[in-house]
Amino acid sequence: MTRVLCIEDEPTLLRTLGANLRARGYDIDLVGTGELGLEIAAKKKPDIVIVDLGLPRMSGLEVIRSLRQWTQIPIIVLSARDTEFDKIGALDAGADDYVSKPFGMGELLARLRAALRRAIPSDETPRVETADFTVDLQARRVTTRSGEAKLTPTEWSLVDVLVRNAGRLVTSRELLKAVWGPEYGNETNYLRVHMTHIRRKIEPEPAVPRYFLTEAGMGYRFVTSADTQTDR
Ligand code: CA
Repeated sequence: MTRVLCIEDEPTLLRTLGANLRARGYDIDLVGTGELGLEIAAKKKPDIVIVDLGLPRMSGLEVIRSLRQWTQIPIIVLSARDTEFDKIGALDAGADDYVSKPFGMGELLARLRAALRRAIPSDETPRVETADFTVDLQARRVTTRSGEAKLTPTEWSLVDVLVRNAGRLVTSRELLKAVWGPEYGNETNYLRVHMTHIRRKIEPEPAVPRYFLTEAGMGYRFVTSADTQTDR
């Protein structure tokens, strides 16, 4: 049974979410504050978290940052603040998707299912196969048609983060923080250089990447085939 944790301070919306999710067979935990949300998340290990950005005291953004220190489970953000800045802030902090209030329950449920489909179970170490190469995250090995690609530790870390988030846009800030450390975030030139090296070693046509895609001004996305590129 899929366990969903909802963190929302509007009691009516929280009840509506609970009723709709329960009716569709999800196992749910409903909480009204970020503090309680983090406590329940650690205790019950939900499969996905829905979090409101505008929470009293601890904000939704802080909740996302805190969760991302220990878990990669999907996070969907709800917010009344529909600005590009808030969206990017939430994605930067590690949210997977964003639904603006007011929203239809059908839309939220569709986003929820999509996020769950993309999620890689955290207890499994994935092995990803494409038409041109295989990435084995456990063995830390990339095998192309011409043999094993020799990646540096930095290149490997980037590939690891992107492959674990296959299909999802990983922002430049997120990548820099994950690979170089929390004090990084603006060194997008590091990413450009290393991504070029990665493409040369792995992509069949490095100048026309098919797998390690650049999302201009945003970040990077790893896709396993042409189909997933339509899922933008
Ligand atoms: Ca709120």
